[in-house]
This record gives sequence, structure tokens and C-alpha cells, in this order.
Amino acid sequence: MTGRRLVVTGVVQGVGFRPHVYRLAHELGLTGSVTNTAAGVVIDAHGPTAALDELTRRVATDAPPLAQVRDVRCHDLAADPTPVAFTILASTSQDGPRTTVPPDCAICDNCLRELFDPGDRRYRHPFITCTDCGPRFTIVTGLPYDRPRTSMASFPMCPDCATEYHDPLDRRFHAQPVACPACGPHLWADDGARRTTGDEAAIALAQRVLADGGTVAVKGLGGFHLAVRADHAAGIARLRARKQRPDRPFALMAGSLDAARRLVELDPVEEQLLTGVARPIVLARRRSDAPVAQGVAPGSAELGVMLAYTPLHHLLLRPGPAAVPVADVLVMTSANLSDEPLCYRDEDAGLLLRLSDLVLGHDRPIVTPCDDSVTRVVDGEPYPVRRSRCAWTGSCPRPLRSAPS
Ligand SMILES: [Zn+2]
Ligand SMILES: [Zn+2]
Repeated sequence: MTGRRLVVTGVVQGVGFRPHVYRLAHELGLTGSVTNTAAGVVIDAHGPTAALDELTRRVATDAPPLAQVRDVRCHDLAADPTPVAFTILASTSQDGPRTTVPPDCAICDNCLRELFDPGDRRYRHPFITCTDCGPRFTIVTGLPYDRPRTSMASFPMCPDCATEYHDPLDRRFHAQPVACPACGPHLWADDGARRTTGDEAAIALAQRVLADGGTVAVKGLGGFHLAVRADHAAGIARLRARKQRPDRPFALMAGSLDAARRLVELDPVEEQLLTGVARPIVLARRRSDAPVAQGVAPGSAELGVMLAYTPLHHLLLRPGPAAVPVADVLVMTSANLSDEPLCYRDEDAGLLLRLSDLVLGHDRPIVTPCDDSVTRVVDGEPYPVRRSRCAWTGSCPRPLRSAPS
């Protein structure tokens, strides 16, 4: 029996890394602990050398889908005098080099299934999330990444969510933004005259305004978008006038890959980008029969298209209990006046109401604003036109003037 400490750095917090280590240690029959520190994930493991070697290797090779291991440093430890089990310890906030903040990710397939499963307790919950998906970077107020240092700190978990959160074998184990209709954030809608609360009422109202060609300011992951039907020429013209943006292309959001395929010609690399966790806006060749108004991207042979990436987007883009006709493609442009900063705070509602007919917001604050990334595929390789949301490096160069947004 021998002991080893592994310090793992990279994108390893908030991506299900500690449960991954926990399951691995149990499988290999190791004792010890794993914890998040400001220096990275620290694993103290005790057991046979071969098992420790296996852990050292698989901690990186079998890492969860959203993790990016940069480095695994090993140190010998004195043998554990009382080895009994392998445990997950609470995070520490000791001083040390700060690890990378995990990026925001598109809703995962499991959560999307639950979102539209009438038997699930998170059926149509606009804030459904798990370890594999959801907000991270935009809700973090400090490191190490843990719920008290996110804008979910003010939403105490209900007993059901707490059970999932504390079960190492659950998909929501230590998923910091985990919530449900009983304990999580809720939507509201405001048209300047009246504030509507209740998730379904707010969604139905937004769908009604959109159906009539109106503009809705939708609170997303990193800020507000202005949404309008992509096939409504008058609605788009009105949005351009309000935004003081006469002709720069608007980005589109499609509710499904099939809906995106009706807009642009897509090759396999572009489809992979569109459906990946980063969900950038992909610039692709416009189909001649794309069902969009001319004003979306005047004179352009391309359209900037992204797929829905939050539960709220999916709820907006699909028919719900309210009998309202729903478009599966919307213009989704950043909510700002031409060249002004992105609106992301509820205090921006005054400006948002000048730009839109209805603000669809919620009570989970956005801590750090973050725009959508824009990517173009050149010779089969993704070429970032603007890196923002889900840029693993955290770099965020200035956008090019031609980028739709
Ligand atoms: Zn998920
Ligand atoms: Zn709950």
C-alpha cells in the first residue's frame, strides 16, 4: 500500500470531475479523498501502486465530456494509517493559482428529454440543468466554483434537489446551478405597463408577441437577446429602426438541426459545430429558398445560424400549452443599441423596453455578460470570427464588423 497526491489543473471544476474521480477510485479499490481547491482538483489516494498508476492515467483519459485536463502533477504521500473509504471533501478557498472558470454549455440531451417529459419533475422548467450542461462562467462570482460563489446562492435547494446534489452516482451530483420548479428561479414578462409572473404565463405571452411580429427581449445565458420572427419583414424593419442598425446581418436561432438545414447549406463540420456544447453562431451559405425575410441579412450570401441552447430557448421555439402558433426560427440578436454594450442586468429593462415590446426575464442574475461566439468553416476547419461564450481559453477578442450578432 502506498499513497499519492494528484493535483489536476485545467477546466476541472463544475464539470463533474470530483464524481468522476470518486467513481474511478471506487472501481480501483482506492481510499482517500478528492477536493476542489483554488489550485485545482486535489486527489489523495492510497492503495496498490498499479491501481494508483491506473488512476493517474484514467483521471485524464476518462475525464467527463466538458472537462479539459491541462496537467496532472504527482507527489508521494505517507501511507494512510486508517484507510477506510474514498470521500469527496468540501471545497477549500486557500490561496493559490486560480484555475479556469468553466464555460457555459448548451442544454444536454438528457436534460432536453426531461424538459419535455410530462412525467419528469422538471417538465418545462426553464432552468433545468445538470453536471453536463448549463450556465457556469456567467453565474460565477468567485473561485473555487461552488454554489455559494454563484448567482444561484440565493436559491436554497429543496430536499429533492439536495438529495440529487449529494448523491455521487446522480447526474446532478454537485451540479452547482441545480434547481427545480419548487426551489429554482422563475420567469417574468414585462411590457412596460404590466408585469406577468409564472413560467407558463410568461412564455405564452412572449410567444403571442412573437407570433404577431413583435420583438421580445429574452434573457439568455450571457445577456439579453432581441427576438423577432425571422419571416416577418415588418417586424424586422421595426427592430432595425429601434436598434439603429440599418443593414448589418442579424443572427438566427433555430429550434432544431432540421430547421437550420432549411436556412443554410451545411456540411458535416458545420453541423458538428452547430450541435456542439459551445453552440456558436455558424456562418454558412444561405439556401435560395430559406424561409426568412430579406431584412435579416440584406445582400448577404450567408446567414449566421445557431441552435437553441438554453431550456428557455427550446420552450419558446416549441408549441406549449398555450394555443399560439410558434415559429421554429427566430432572429436572435444581441440586445444593445448599435455598438453599445450588451444588456444583461434587470436594471436594463428601461432600455430593453425601448428596443422591444416585451421583456422576458428571470430572477437568476447574470454576473458576467458574454456574447455569442461566431464561427465560419474554412477548408473544413472552424475559424473563429468572434470568440465569446464557451471559448475554453477565456479569450474574447473584439468582434469583426461583419459578424452577425
Ligand atoms: Zn444536463
Ligand atoms: Zn428543487
